[in-house]
Amino acid sequence: MSGTLNPKGAQDAKFWRTTRHYDMSSEKEEAREEVLLTAEISKCLRRHCGDGGDMFDFAVESILADVQEDGVPKDVDEASCRWSSTLEDCELKPFDDDDEDEDTSELVVNMYGELIEGIQGAMAEARGDVVEYLSSDQCEMCERVAPLTRHHFFPTSEHDFFKKRNLCPPDRSLHEVAAVCRPCHTAIHGFADERTLGESYNTIESLLEVEQLRKFAHYMSKQKGGMKKHDNALRHAK
Ligand SMILES: [Zn+2]
Ligand SMILES: [Zn+2]
Repeated sequence: MSGTLNPKGAQDAKFWRTTRHYDMSSEKEEAREEVLLTAEISKCLRRHCGDGGDMFDFAVESILADVQEDGVPKDVDEASCRWSSTLEDCELKPFDDDDEDEDTSELVVNMYGELIEGIQGAMAEARGDVVEYLSSDQCEMCERVAPLTRHHFFPTSEHDFFKKRNLCPPDRSLHEVAAVCRPCHTAIHGFADERTLGESYNTIESLLEVEQLRKFAHYMSKQKGGMKKHDNALRHAK
């Protein structure tokens, strides 16, 4: 593994993967990550598929190994490509609690979506960088009501840089934050490095002008929990 950090402003969905290796300094952190990931994956599978019998632990370990090897899938389609045969082999199928004839494909999408979200949360928690969950409310990017995290429009790690060059507009504060859900937050940081974000993408509107982020936010807005309390910038982003 090369572990190189992306060049400045690279629009690379694999950013998450490279930073993970870059930040992972000690074995202790890796072990902690593994514990958190295992707990999260099994919690999610249990919620969607039940206990599943003998093969349950094998399914959890396979997904864990795959994530450790190749990083977090970038979307539900990729997750399904990588994990569906394991889940089938282990006879794990998402079931429907309320017995209505809900489309199974929707159950599958919800399960993979939740797995991705849970895995991202567990990894972030292992790195100690997002302990700060706010209470659930509407994400400023995707409009879903979900647990929120703080995104600093001018990332704290670059404050010295912004101050020295006077890059913060006079009517703004270096401490302005947006409240965004974990998947949207990860997508924002996957799109560009912190300096580029602070210099060029320091409003929700400018983030939603980026096609890949706007598409992601639209996609997330259709996922579970997508009940809208009020319209936000996504509505006006075309
Ligand atoms: Zn969101
Ligand atoms: Zn952020």
